[in-house]
Amino acid sequence: MKKFDVPVFYRSPLITAIKNKRKADDKLKKDFSPTCLDFGKLQIFLARHFGFCYGVENAIEISFRTVEENPDKNIYLLSEMIHNPQVNNDLKKRGVQFLMDTKGNTIIPFSRLKPDDIVVVPAFGTTLQIEQQLAQAGVEIEKYNTTCPFVEKVWNRAQAIAKNNYSVIVHGKPQHEETRATFSHSAVNSPTVVVKDMNEAVELASYILGTKDPNDFYEEFKEQYSEGFKVETDLERIGVVNQTTMLASDTQAIAEYLKEVMKKKYNLTESNIEERFADTRDTLCYATNDNQGAVYALLDTAADLAIVVGGYNSSNTSHLVELCEEKLPTYFVRSEDDIVSSKQINHYKIHRKEEVTSLSYLPEKKPAKILLTSGASCPDALVEGVIKKLVSFYNCDKTIDDLITEFTSNPKEAKNSLLQN
Ligand code: SF4
Repeated sequence: MKKFDVPVFYRSPLITAIKNKRKADDKLKKDFSPTCLDFGKLQIFLARHFGFCYGVENAIEISFRTVEENPDKNIYLLSEMIHNPQVNNDLKKRGVQFLMDTKGNTIIPFSRLKPDDIVVVPAFGTTLQIEQQLAQAGVEIEKYNTTCPFVEKVWNRAQAIAKNNYSVIVHGKPQHEETRATFSHSAVNSPTVVVKDMNEAVELASYILGTKDPNDFYEEFKEQYSEGFKVETDLERIGVVNQTTMLASDTQAIAEYLKEVMKKKYNLTESNIEERFADTRDTLCYATNDNQGAVYALLDTAADLAIVVGGYNSSNTSHLVELCEEKLPTYFVRSEDDIVSSKQINHYKIHRKEEVTSLSYLPEKKPAKILLTSGASCPDALVEGVIKKLVSFYNCDKTIDDLITEFTSNPKEAKNSLLQN
């Protein structure tokens, strides 16, 4: 995979050494078992896959290069570049301004844009309407468009479904930038509706099966369906695509469920279901698949707690938290700063959507066993910061530098440190 020029302050010598070692030992990415960082009184189990993905590195490289190459120009980002506060703040500090917030609300009106201004489109992509607005302002976006190819792949998939006269069901968070962009690109080709979870899929099924008044659809799915959507006819042939960062198991369950609904409604079987239901499989990206798969493998390790690092509004990170919290106490933090002391941690509750403080979160027993991972928009440096903070609470036998040495220059010992399933 292409290598990107990402600022060195986002990298971590320890994490880079570990990732390189794991990659060298497992070129085909078959081993999802975690890496055990054994500090004696503390054992940290690090997920096999985490941190910056292709799309995020690409967006960071383009954004920082744009800032460097254009010191005299106004540089705007459509909205947050990625869902990580540190990266967004670093860009703001370099003079980059945000045109919208993550919900699409205006911060700086487009009317202020001039043709020689630069507008960077984030990795999530953007809507056709916004592309048009930028074009009307004379702003050229091609050169600074960081839309991830894995997001574009979803748009292409939706287009292929549309060509075969299926309507598109997008499994995604309706307000998320990526889902809004996918919805917009899909809606020009075919009737499109967004469902955020299984509950909404079940409600949608009631309209497919005709057990609910079609008129209620427009209120129930307000702002989630394309213009001119006809509920009586536009749900007769459907296909499902998703926001690339949804939980794989959720998308699969929703697609399977809707497939069964179509079979029931039209009396179809597996052999002729394609008449009404497009075979799309899921459209999650490789990073989401890898990171979620690595968390499932991480959870096979008996541990006292899990820490997940990432931006509170990061969709892919929230799903990693969801998986962990089903199994053990889980703390969602943005950086080591949220780990106030060995007795106090500030963390985000995804269901309550609020930050809380927990006390006495570390176990009394030794060694303490902690699972650790991060989202696709989280710099490795922040994960290393968390490791360092945790290590500082214990009188450890080993230092971070000892571990870096193990993973770089002593392959035999490094191999012993890897926890095999
Ligand atoms: S999470 Fe996937 S789709 Fe999103 S930016 Fe990263 S690689 Fe692209």
